[in-house]
Amino acid sequence: CGIFAYLNYLTPKSRQQILELLVQGLKRLEYRGYDSTGLAIDAPNEVDDILLVKRTGKVKILEDAIAEVCQGEDYSQPVDVHIGIAHTRWATHGVPSEVNSHPQRSDVENSFVVVHNGIITNYKDVKTLLEKRGYIFESDTDTEVIAKLVHHLWQSHPGYSFGELVEQAIQQLEGAFAIALKSKHFPGECVASRRGSPLLVGIKAKTKLATDHVPILYTKAHRPHGQQQFHVLPGGSGEVSAEFQPLEHKEVEYFFASDASAVIEHTNRVIYLEDDDVAAVKRDGTLSIHRLNKSSDDPHAREIITL
Ligand code: GLU
Repeated sequence: CGIFAYLNYLTPKSRQQILELLVQGLKRLEYRGYDSTGLAIDAPNEVDDILLVKRTGKVKILEDAIAEVCQGEDYSQPVDVHIGIAHTRWATHGVPSEVNSHPQRSDVENSFVVVHNGIITNYKDVKTLLEKRGYIFESDTDTEVIAKLVHHLWQSHPGYSFGELVEQAIQQLEGAFAIALKSKHFPGECVASRRGSPLLVGIKAKTKLATDHVPILYTKAHRPHGQQQFHVLPGGSGEVSAEFQPLEHKEVEYFFASDASAVIEHTNRVIYLEDDDVAAVKRDGTLSIHRLNKSSDDPHAREIITL
């Protein structure tokens, strides 16, 4: 029932430090209630693999599991850019178990992994479609469709950015969600979105931010006559007002969290995401917010507020 993600584009930290930070974030969210926990970071090897650690029960049990995982491998070397996503689960679909814990994954290679709060009400329909395309589901969660849907879109839409893939995916999801995703195909990037469930972006910069707004990039989309599905046109990111420059701060850390209590020890600068916002951070640390189809009264930017 809580999401916490940490994106480091500042001083290199070791995997051990990243893991400690993620666990600390989860502890701050414990009061929301949960039955299982889990997280994903980059595995310590050459091939951009993702390491998942998941457990039923308390964050403390996850912490002990992490201590074990860290033994014998080199988790103390500083790594440059690093993305970690973490989750406390309150099971709605599928019993509390390790395989049902989040992150949920697209495939056994952990190509795309996702943490999710909420309920995808049309998951059965999406699952049936994906099963027809050869996807084999391993959990009983509604969440697993998100990772597999993004993977499917990635395969069928070469050239789409990570943000565009998630933007496309959420058009096909119904229900409530706050999500954060990580991918071995987009190392150093992280994408988050929400509808109905809370999610905020915490921003901690080494020097003063040049702006207190992050521009919204509106993608043009169209719904072909008689069809339910939107078709998103890739790369359509026009209509950025000159007033608002993208947040291109070089030395920065970001947090995605369900709740300000998880980030306040790190920073008091936050953006509260609105329904259907897709926040995407690139490997260079640039943050942008994507939405579909601007109408005249939609804002140009989201404000970075000070708590
Ligand atoms: N519906 C998801 C599940 O049961 C997410 C539950 C939650 O919000 O923690 O796995």
